[in-house]
Amino acid sequence: MAASRSFTFLGTGTSVGVPMIGCDCPVCRSDNPRNHRYRCAVLIRLPGGNLLIDTPPELRLQLLREKVRRIDAVLITHYHVDHLYGLDDLRPCAKILDGPLPLYCNAETEERIRRVFAYAFHPDADKLPPGSLPRMRFERIETEPFTALGQRIVPIPLDHAQYRVLGFRIDDVAYCTDVNHIPEESWSRLQGLRILVLDALRRKPHPGHFSVDQALEVIQRLRPERAFLTHMGHELDHDETNRSLPAGVELAYDGLTFEF
Ligand SMILES: [Zn+2]
Ligand SMILES: [Zn+2]
Ligand SMILES: [Zn+2]
Repeated sequence: MAASRSFTFLGTGTSVGVPMIGCDCPVCRSDNPRNHRYRCAVLIRLPGGNLLIDTPPELRLQLLREKVRRIDAVLITHYHVDHLYGLDDLRPCAKILDGPLPLYCNAETEERIRRVFAYAFHPDADKLPPGSLPRMRFERIETEPFTALGQRIVPIPLDHAQYRVLGFRIDDVAYCTDVNHIPEESWSRLQGLRILVLDALRRKPHPGHFSVDQALEVIQRLRPERAFLTHMGHELDHDETNRSLPAGVELAYDGLTFEF
């Protein structure tokens, strides 16, 4: 019997966030906190430590809100700005860990991180006081299952417009953000799920994200016990959309937590 683990949505919004700057639509003006969506990330509390999936621009605010005092490892789904460019907010982590923060990503993402955060990999970086730069240790992953913080994790290759990105599965929970098509070889990795978290940007189709109806088709095929939709835009009102969804499917919201 596994020790208790929890999964927390740190953010559930699309790349511009909700509310969106300059927008007066009903969702952007809504008082409902569930219509306030930071960019997408997830915190998984494991017996072996705190595992973060993605480092969006609001990362600091998200970790403070959830009272997360340490991150022990990070998984990156892909290198888009809304999933990655809050990485510098993890500067205090290496000090707390007393060593570099393990960062699990593929070769393409590592190459992008080394360019965007070039200052962190400068030859003199080690001479600066601890905490002044993010200190990271790359752990290369591609499509094979791997272990992080003592937990086996299965990467799930996903298509996201012209990009190949990664979803992640831990036992019977899968997190699949930023996807508009599931490659044939990935369906077998999504069988027998208790909980599926899936991208659903809006009602209208989009070249890089599932619409609500497309996400529902995937859920129908996979039949998880429960499904949460994420990476929503301002077109989707939380309560109104939830009322339209079939039993067992709901929109996630920032701060939603479940045990598994
Ligand atoms: Zn995204
Ligand atoms: Zn709006
Ligand atoms: Zn993306």
